Amino acid sequence: MEIDRVVVVGGGIAGLAAAAVLARRAGEVVLVERHPAPALPPQAGLPHAMLLSGALVLNELFPGLDERLRVRGAVPPGPDPTHVPCHWAAAGAVRHELRFPDVGRGRSLCSRELIQQEMWAAVERIPNVRREHDTVTTAVGRGGAVHGVALRSGRTIEADLVIDAGGRGRGVPTGVPDPPVTEVGVDIRYTSFLVERQEGDLDGAVVAAVQHTPRIPRMGIALPMEGGLWQVGFGAFFGEAGPTDPAEVREYAAAAFADPVLAQLLDRPFLDRPRRYTFRSGLRRHWERMARPVPGFVAVGDTVASVNPIYGQGMSSALLQVRELGRLVDRYGVGPSLAAAAPKALAKIADAPWHLSTGADFTYARTTGPRPRDQARINAYVSRVLRAAAVDDRANLAFTSVTHLMAPPAALFAPPVVAAALRHGAPPKTPADPARAGAAA
Ligand SMILES: Cc1cc2nc3c(=O)[nH]c(=O)nc-3n(C[C@H](O)[C@H](O)[C@H](O)COP(=O)(O)OP(=O)(O)OC[C@H]3O[C@@H](n4cnc5c(N)ncnc54)[C@H](O)[C@@H]3O)c2cc1C
Repeated sequence: MEIDRVVVVGGGIAGLAAAAVLARRAGEVVLVERHPAPALPPQAGLPHAMLLSGALVLNELFPGLDERLRVRGAVPPGPDPTHVPCHWAAAGAVRHELRFPDVGRGRSLCSRELIQQEMWAAVERIPNVRREHDTVTTAVGRGGAVHGVALRSGRTIEADLVIDAGGRGRGVPTGVPDPPVTEVGVDIRYTSFLVERQEGDLDGAVVAAVQHTPRIPRMGIALPMEGGLWQVGFGAFFGEAGPTDPAEVREYAAAAFADPVLAQLLDRPFLDRPRRYTFRSGLRRHWERMARPVPGFVAVGDTVASVNPIYGQGMSSALLQVRELGRLVDRYGVGPSLAAAAPKALAKIADAPWHLSTGADFTYARTTGPRPRDQARINAYVSRVLRAAAVDDRANLAFTSVTHLMAPPAALFAPPVVAAALRHGAPPKTPADPARAGAAA
């Protein structure tokens, strides 16, 4: 085998996937993670949705993983994975079905913890992956190229390729030049709660979501998980801290959102403690704009793009990047050509979730960062598509495909979708209760 050793820094979603992908291509993969397995990051206890694109990659990289998740209680998509019942309030309309493309399977829903536990278990079964419980302190190398990493324990591991999958904060903090960074400030405050799932909840919807609107900078989501539970989460922009006292949470869910649907899940005792998390900004590291490529080094996952979590894209973006990394290694090996090609190719994958999420974040004048030109017009059009998606199958399919990273954003501008948006997407007339109808969206 031409590639003797790869070091993967970080045992999160990106690092575990990278270990699996590169173990097929290298003699040995050393996975360095500073926390004991399953190394859950602080946000892991809050609701995490795996998008369809991420679920497909996950099952490609870890065959049988979906079945194992289901054995442990993950909730399957329902009898027809192309038509998933939902209550999705957005832009003043409610979709009752998420219309997915027919790819032969759907996604199961469960906690982030369960996904990561099963990924760890799968990686531990790969014979040529060696685990190091240690912290990487720097990359080591010569002449601008990386040849390994130094660990806090004092040891050095030589490698043909080092993958930085260390998450938003970077796993290889020094030894590699800093890339240019873009930041989009939103100061989202999350709260989340676990409640029992009951027969007939949400009229049979598998998921529920209430998107933020121009007048109401708050969103809510309910996702089913193992153990017969709902994870109910709220995210508010610009530093608004939602309540955690049960009575106040119920009132908040009923009155403070564009649609009160989630209040019906909060009529029962809260299980476990409420969770909080603050996400201050979307963060993009432009590895593709480095003055000189760094042979022997590639960054993936949140280290490339850490996006506003309310759109549920981070894990799937990481998995799509890692799948692409495998293809790039097949094509270029691990030398200078990979260093030149990989940052651009991975940035291209990160672009869609980055532009979709920051574009929606720029609904608000208070969002900070480089505001794209024409964003207001694009957002107005997207709101039209969303309203059309509530009544038009093609608009629904296009919107779900784009937001699940199964189709490029340009799919929203396909002629049948434009026609549906023009026909069905007009903003509602000023309603009696603008908050409830999300009228301004
Ligand atoms: C509140 C919230 C909700 C979210 N909801 C969703 C959602 O619904 N859907 C979704 O897809 N995404 C969601 N995300 C995003 C998702 O959590 C991230 O995109 C995902 O965790 C990125 O995975 P990663 O492997 O790149 O990084 P991480 O999960 O952060 O993993 C990085 C790992 O590297 C290790 N590490 C770092 N530095 C070193 C070092 N020097 N040495 C050794 N180890 C190191 C860390 O310990 C960690 O285990 C959410 C995020 C937040 C904050």
